[in-house]
Amino acid sequence: MGDGADGPVLFISDLHLGPDRPDLQALFHAFCAGPARQARALFILGDLFDYWIHPAQAGESAYAAPLGDLAALTEEGVPVYLLVGNRDFPLSPAFLRRYGITLIPDPSALRLGTKRVLLTHGDLLCSNDHRYQRFRRIIRHPLTRFLLRPLPYPWLRRLAQGLRRGSQREVARKPITITDAHPDAVAAALRGADPFASPLAPHQILIHGHTHRPQWEEITPGQQHRLVLGAWDSAGAFYGTWDGKAMNLVFFHGIREPST
Ligand code: MN
Repeated sequence: MGDGADGPVLFISDLHLGPDRPDLQALFHAFCAGPARQARALFILGDLFDYWIHPAQAGESAYAAPLGDLAALTEEGVPVYLLVGNRDFPLSPAFLRRYGITLIPDPSALRLGTKRVLLTHGDLLCSNDHRYQRFRRIIRHPLTRFLLRPLPYPWLRRLAQGLRRGSQREVARKPITITDAHPDAVAAALRGADPFASPLAPHQILIHGHTHRPQWEEITPGQQHRLVLGAWDSAGAFYGTWDGKAMNLVFFHGIREPST
């Protein structure tokens, strides 16, 4: 084990790492060399990458570097668990295993101390966004994936970039009531209703990302809470920590330039 055997459990999401953002790559490196080193475990709740479509991406430094950071972490004895997001859902368990990372399903339930916790990326909670939910079903359908798999990487990359631009335009156009998590879906997830069924339900804490609206919210007084993780940007990122007793939302500033 690393030094983190009784350290906190950390939760991050929505890093959106890729060639356009060397600043985020540096921030993530600092996170892996910093707080994550002291952790008992690290959970990545989706959208680690701006997009993931092909294992060939592992040959590009923008992807190889963060994968290397995670491999170094697991070699230190910090277990890393990942559930996929809407941007990186083709990441496969066999591919991640090469870096010591364990793929877990979305949703996944776990027990932290006395709390029953449900982890999900968050896109399933945007149940009012019917157009997106339809797209999600189609793009993740085994037949679609079977048809896309043989396409060469450059074609898939162009397709992914086009989809990403389309989705950015669409999110900008849609009102917040559609792109945010729906309260009914949050309640359903905590209750363990379909598609959030789990033997641990009902849950006391729901942790998710995707909506980029970090907060700690009380859903039912003293009973049920929701932790929303933040998206990473050049200033830093909100991530979740479980210290053995309580859940906290913490801001990671990265490494500051010394002021002169
Ligand atoms: Mn997302």
